[in-house]
Order: sequence, then structure tokens, then C-alpha cells
Amino acid sequence: MVSFKELGLVNTREMFAKAIKGGYAIPAFNFNNMEQLQAIVKACAETKSPVILQVSKGARNYANQTLLRYMAQGAVEYAKELGWEHPQICLHLDHGDSFELCKSCVDFGFSSVMIDASHLPYEENIALTKKVVEYAHQYDVTVEAELGVLAGVEDEVSSAVSHYTKPEEVVDFATRTGCDSLAISIGTSHGAYKFTPEQCTRDPKTGKLVPPPLAFDVLDAIMEQLPGFPIVLHGSSSVPQEYVDMINATGGKLPDAVGIPEEQLRKAAKSAVCKINIDSDSRLAFTAAVRKVFAEKPGEFDPRKYCGPARDLMEELYKHKIINVLGSNGKAE
Ligand SMILES: [Zn+2]
Repeated sequence: MVSFKELGLVNTREMFAKAIKGGYAIPAFNFNNMEQLQAIVKACAETKSPVILQVSKGARNYANQTLLRYMAQGAVEYAKELGWEHPQICLHLDHGDSFELCKSCVDFGFSSVMIDASHLPYEENIALTKKVVEYAHQYDVTVEAELGVLAGVEDEVSSAVSHYTKPEEVVDFATRTGCDSLAISIGTSHGAYKFTPEQCTRDPKTGKLVPPPLAFDVLDAIMEQLPGFPIVLHGSSSVPQEYVDMINATGGKLPDAVGIPEEQLRKAAKSAVCKINIDSDSRLAFTAAVRKVFAEKPGEFDPRKYCGPARDLMEELYKHKIINVLGSNGKAE
């Protein structure tokens, strides 16, 4: 049993309380490799932004859960080395799908876990979430739960609406589970193809897709039911078109990739939404930078020469999100 406190990590409790009061959101960035983690830590150290490092199922399979945890521990020391006196770094399990997995992360030094039982019937979601909360809280580890199903590109337009979180359920759910934060569904979705062309309109000038707006009326109704309760948005990459264009200009193929417009995320960050998950955007930045190097210097074979520029572009992206979208800069001096 390792406590996250011994590793210099923090849970989300104080982070979220301050974020809701201050009208900003904490960035939750996924990491899978060293370059990505370096970029996150550098961006956060420079902007003095609290941060949630997320480990997904895919990351655990790719990089190994043990290695990722030691990397997060290293991130705290690296942040201090960069001159960030009191780094506020949370290590979070993204989309935990069983009690056993959540328990293993709690036991191993994670400071926060998500139990995603949103695909289960309502009562089963409550029972599993409650079980994880009861275990995690013994060690002061915070728990994120999910209610409602995020729409994906496979979904029909009509069914996307019915998957929204039901505001009339949130009080019962939060009270009975004791969860610390709640991921909701208001129209965000995972991946770089958040909407089908049929769900969007097309900008006649640029030919680019314009996505439908988030359901702020649902968010407002949830906040009315649960005043001051921490709300989480998953699938909140904006899919910057400059990266998509860079990728497509260098032999890539990402037609009609589209995300959540940043001004909508900015608006959400000012509300009780205090954690915004961003993953796809950094994948796009990484890929765009690597492709550019290969297109310009086909003879390059030193991974540092293409992972380095990828790292730089991701750092730029993270800083932009922190300063211009989430507003979390300067909140962790
Ligand atoms: Zn997610």
C-alpha cells in the first residue's frame, strides 16, 4: 500500500472547490509516454496550473500501469526542478471499469479514480460506484463517477439526445454514491470525429464542418439540482483545424475531423464544470509535428529529432488550453 501523499500528489477535492469558486477548470490530460508527460509538466510548471494526469485503459495496455505511476511520481520531482515550488499534480485513473482495478490504483498511489459504470442500469451504476467510493475514501482518494452516455459517431442523431444525463437523477445519484465529482453527457464525445457531417452544418467559406452546440440547458438544470457540485466533461478536444490541415498536407487522411469549439469549453469552464478532459488534441499535435519532420527531412531517423518537435508542439497546445480555454493559469503557485 502506497499513499499518494507520500508521492507528493494531491487528490481533486481542493482543486475542484477552488476551480468552481474561481470560475475556471482543471485540465485533465492523458499521458502515454515520456514526451507527452514532459510537455504537460513543462506547460503546467510554466503557467503554474494545477493538473490532472490521466491514465486510461489504453495507456495501461500500452505503457504499463506500474511504469506510468512511477513516471507520475517523477513528474512531481521534475516540476520542482523546473521551479514550480508547490506542484499540484493529481494522478487519476480514467474510465476505471471494475472495483478491482480502482482498488489496485488506490493501493498503488493514485490520488483519484474514475469508476465508469454508466453503461450499467442505474441501480447497478449506483451500487458499483458506492463500493469504489467507500474503499477509496478510506485513503482520501477522490472518486469520479459517470451518469449518462457520451454520444459517439456511431450514434444516430436522434439517440444522442436521449443519452444526455438526466438532471432529475443527479441528486439521488450523488447522495447515494457519495462520489466527489460527476462526469455528465451534454453533447461532448470521445475521439477526433465527434460528430458526423449530418449532425453538423458546413461553413460555406472554408468548407469545414461546424458542430452542433453543447446542451447548456442540461448543464444548467444539473447545476440547479446540485449547486456547487464538481462536474466533469469528457471528450472535450477541440480538434484544432491547423493540426488537421498539417496532417492532411503531409500525406495524412483525416477528412472532416471535428471537435468541441473552444469558446464553448471556455463557457463551460466558468460554470461548475471543473475538470475538462483533453486527449485527442495532443495526439493530433504529436502526429502533425512528426509528419512535418518526415515530410521535410525524409532522411531523419533519430527519434529525438521528430519526438522533440512533437513534444514542443504539445507543450504549446497545453499552454494554450490552460491560458485561453480553461483559465487555470496561476492557480497553483
Ligand atoms: Zn472519457
